[in-house]
Amino acid sequence: MLKIDKLNAWYGTSHILQDVSLHVDRGEVVSLLGRNGAGKTTLLKSVMGLLKKTAGAVSFKGADLLGLPAHARYRHGLAYVPEERRIVPGMTVLENLRLGIIASGKAKDERAIIERIAATFPRLKERLGQEAVTMSGGEQQMLAIARATAAGPDMILLDEPSEGIMPVLVDEMFELFLALKRQGTTILLVEQSVETALGISDRAYILDQGAIVYSERADAMLADPAIQERYCAV
Ligand code: ATP
Repeated sequence: MLKIDKLNAWYGTSHILQDVSLHVDRGEVVSLLGRNGAGKTTLLKSVMGLLKKTAGAVSFKGADLLGLPAHARYRHGLAYVPEERRIVPGMTVLENLRLGIIASGKAKDERAIIERIAATFPRLKERLGQEAVTMSGGEQQMLAIARATAAGPDMILLDEPSEGIMPVLVDEMFELFLALKRQGTTILLVEQSVETALGISDRAYILDQGAIVYSERADAMLADPAIQERYCAV
């Protein structure tokens, strides 16, 4: 589904990603782990086409993504939920969802999509008319996920979805990721909460100082606290 080959990325003259290669197969949940500053967000942004300076190859569903702007990648079936969520102030939950539907080019299916979101995200259904930024952090994260998945993408990139969210909502959110997986959505997940991430993942990669240093099945990594301690402890 997603294949990254020798990806390099820079911020100005800082060389952040160094020859990163990884792949995510159709239907898999793959975690990308590593300490703060390891380059996880930079990798997701590079895949989405949001960085000015990158080199290497990124292909999605067999097509080369390089040169395509982020919105074209989204319409191609690749969705992204950034860490900062980007909920639009002054707009209701419904209006925020509409933005995602319009961006995905599926405005004519809006009614059916909103009904599907309401069924999948009961917390949002109750709050469609509420100003979105007045919701709790966890509810706003749910909205960001609902908005990104409105068009039924083939794959979603998630950047630290559990950050700053109370545990009960984190559990609910991870159940939702499993439901998305069951529906066939492929997921690349960046998470600080290693055990939670590995618990729903098939495989995981560890990024350290901009390079992949380890890759393993999730169950094997879960059983290896030494690796987690070495590369993922904050
Ligand atoms: P975190 O978990 O803290 O978000 P991360 O693994 O996602 O960490 P990145 O955010 O990708 O790490 O950052 C990787 C490196 O790139 C860090 O050294 C960071 O300081 C640097 N960096 C990130 N954004 C920028 C920017 N806009 N300009 C310059 N340097 C940046």
